[in-house]
Amino acid sequence: MNTEERSWESDFLPLVRPPQKNGSNDTYCFAFKDRELLLVKGNNSLRLPSLEEIGNMDIDILRTQYLGELKDISCFSVELDNSNAVASIVENASFVSVRELPGILEETLAYLAGKAVHIMEWDRNTLFCGRCGSATSLKENERAKECPECGFLAFPKISPAIIVLIEKDDRVLLARSPHFRPGLYSILAGFVEPGESIEEAVVREVREEVGISIKNVRYFGSQPWPYPDSLMIGFTAEFLEGDIKVDGVEIEEAGWFTKDEIPVVPGKTSISGWLIEYFINKHS
Ligand SMILES: [Zn+2]
Repeated sequence: MNTEERSWESDFLPLVRPPQKNGSNDTYCFAFKDRELLLVKGNNSLRLPSLEEIGNMDIDILRTQYLGELKDISCFSVELDNSNAVASIVENASFVSVRELPGILEETLAYLAGKAVHIMEWDRNTLFCGRCGSATSLKENERAKECPECGFLAFPKISPAIIVLIEKDDRVLLARSPHFRPGLYSILAGFVEPGESIEEAVVREVREEVGISIKNVRYFGSQPWPYPDSLMIGFTAEFLEGDIKVDGVEIEEAGWFTKDEIPVVPGKTSISGWLIEYFINKHS
């Protein structure tokens, strides 16, 4: 993906209350069992159900949140009762992991599923006030839960994380986390600490994970990453000095690779894939 050419206009309008509508009553329903989305089997494809279709299925709905409008179609997230019975009860439906949705749903809907799962998790994680333990209620005009006892507000949490492509002449730094599947490499990433700028986080994470220093840290682009609630903020940077020394905890192996030596890396549905593609194109 070329982030410079991309239009940032979105057809989706986020809202917290449904508008009065005279026309369409169409709905998209993002219904989750844990973090798996319920899709209805159509002609050789899978599609989102409507809120009405979900209501007609023999499944228990725990909670529903309105998300906003996609071209006049109202969008909802739904948390389904997570009993083992769910999958077997629902005929003509499949549960698909949020990570697998790109390629199954069109891009806008796959992204909206990320928002939906994020809001669904926020809803179930804020049923009670984190400060005093009272039951919360939905705030009227913004996406927040309010405590009627102490006034505490719980907004959806977004956890910023940095991801950085580091170049050294015609080579890129790729590394393996012990959590990766065998053979997979990626670029470095980590969470931003409280009180830290995102640029400082880039420099610190690189120093901590592989022991080198970098220069020319430049913003590249960003991607919502609802696993469970991150926003990945991408950068490019250049090697400055130091020898690679992995921390052995978050990173077990790291090295410099030319574009022709690049091993298995993340696909082009993630910002890590976009950054690696940027490197390959630059050196092709
Ligand atoms: Zn409270």
